[in-house]
Amino acid sequence: MLALNVNSTALAVHHKLIKCWLSKKIKGNKSRKNRLGYKCEDDECEICKIDMHKAALPQVLVDFFTSEKIDALVLGKPKNLIELNEDYLNLGVDNDITVKLFVKSGYENWFQPNFGNKLLNNIDQDTCTYCNRNYTLQTVPNRSRAQLDHWFSKETYPLLALSFYNLIPSCSSCNHLKLDAVINNDFAHPYTCNEENQKFTFSFNFVDLNKYYDIKCKVEANSKMDNTLKGFKIKEIYNAHINKELKDLLELRYKYSDNYIDLLINKTFQGLMSKEEIYRMIFGIEIKEEEYHKRPFSKFKHDIIKELLEI
Ligand SMILES: [Zn+2]
Ligand SMILES: [Zn+2]
Repeated sequence: MLALNVNSTALAVHHKLIKCWLSKKIKGNKSRKNRLGYKCEDDECEICKIDMHKAALPQVLVDFFTSEKIDALVLGKPKNLIELNEDYLNLGVDNDITVKLFVKSGYENWFQPNFGNKLLNNIDQDTCTYCNRNYTLQTVPNRSRAQLDHWFSKETYPLLALSFYNLIPSCSSCNHLKLDAVINNDFAHPYTCNEENQKFTFSFNFVDLNKYYDIKCKVEANSKMDNTLKGFKIKEIYNAHINKELKDLLELRYKYSDNYIDLLINKTFQGLMSKEEIYRMIFGIEIKEEEYHKRPFSKFKHDIIKELLEI
């Protein structure tokens, strides 16, 4: 899994959209008749410009969603979202009402078809957050597009269907893994796994001549990241796919001796290419962690090369 950095544009755009839409659904359009209704400051707001049908909702729900609560729902970090969800469940609102407002009407009918691609473009992640294996760029319309995975599933946590930190760009095969039973807060979340010092590195063992290598993930046992890697079957996926990639790296490392790499850096390309660029050229990898997402297998290749250079 790759760590995600918050893209402030993506976050701000998402906040405004969801806040305006939800506020209008819950409070109605602001008008002379409905002074408690909602309209944002922005006269050009694409959501507030249109008259929207106020949803018929129980009063406890309407009262619960003050402006601050809506902010907390849209911008809350994973841990706070779970707390908010618990507070909300105490209101005793019928689950069908919650599903209808946040999932059906909000996410599926309004947000996903109109703004799903826009959010993905703003987040600007080139490969799947979970596996770093498949490109998720939209290169050709309607082909190989990233999906938005609900970290806390829509089925179990309908309230969180529109929350920013709950929408993770992923490939379709990772998105289809249903991890409901375990996912809660026992998993390292892509947006917060840096904060929690949840790191892992890829490594390998030599096995035998038929099945050359066994990929391993070095991680603290039973940590949140350990759970996440197991949940997404990262070791299995990499083992099934990557022996060729690993062999290429071993061969490259063997061909390019330390002296030769030094020579490239200090003589041949001195002043023309940075160390990062030379490494990227030789091994086909991104060096900076925040750029791993730009190429498939970047984290894997980076970790393995680092290990090989140390041997
Ligand atoms: Zn607005
Ligand atoms: Zn994936």
